Amino acid sequence: MLRMESVRKTFGETVVLRDVDLDVPQHTVTALIGASGSGKSTLLRCANLLEEIDDGAIWLDGEEITDPRADADAVRRRIGVVFQAYNLFPHMTVLENVTLAPRRVHGVPREKAEEEARGLLERLGLGAKATEYPDRLSGGQQQRAAIVRALAVRPRLLLLDEITAALDPELVGEVLDVVRDLKGEGMTMVLATHEMSFAREVADQVCFLDGGVVLERGAPEAVFEDPQEERTRKFLRRIV
Ligand code: ATP
Ligand code: MG
Repeated sequence: MLRMESVRKTFGETVVLRDVDLDVPQHTVTALIGASGSGKSTLLRCANLLEEIDDGAIWLDGEEITDPRADADAVRRRIGVVFQAYNLFPHMTVLENVTLAPRRVHGVPREKAEEEARGLLERLGLGAKATEYPDRLSGGQQQRAAIVRALAVRPRLLLLDEITAALDPELVGEVLDVVRDLKGEGMTMVLATHEMSFAREVADQVCFLDGGVVLERGAPEAVFEDPQEERTRKFLRRIV
């Protein structure tokens, strides 16, 4: 579904991604792990065309989205994104946040957008919070609302960047439960995470990034239990 080939991304003199190949089949979960600064967020931003790549190519559903003629807005409409800090608009209720893109970008009529939004909020345990403002929600609830907002446009692919990193430990579980459920429903996801136990449980494929290179990849059991690269071993020793 998502494929990257020899992707290179630089910021000025700094090479942030070098020769990155990635293949994310439909209905699978890919976890990106690696030290801070290894390029996980940049990779996700490139996949969503928030960053322009310097070399290589990216395909979504067989279409080369890095082709200069590709319609970047149309591509982004097929991809849901959730970042570390909850990015809800504070001056809008949860329901307004969730229905914004379906209404504005996809032209869904208000009533239909709200009906679908309420259904999604219900499913993620936020049914009672629809008309609240974000600051009345806990961190975990806000992050779940951000996931609902990403899902509201029915994305083909979900990119999740450290969605639990800003949460108190006791709130992490409820957000990870949501990801687990989405996996159960067959949602294709790429997630950057520092939660190794979660990556291990939920991912079909784990990619270890080191200095902008995918140094090691494979099934979670292989990468976590029998890493082939010394740098992967070192990273895992430090973090677990
Ligand atoms: P973390 O685990 O801390 O989130 P990461 O793996 O997501 O780290 P990135 O945010 O992708 O890492 O950053 C990779 C490198 O690219 C870092 O060295 C960072 O300083 C650099 N970088 C990222 N964005 C920019 C930018 N807009 N301008 C210049 N350098 C950048
Ligand atoms: Mg990051």
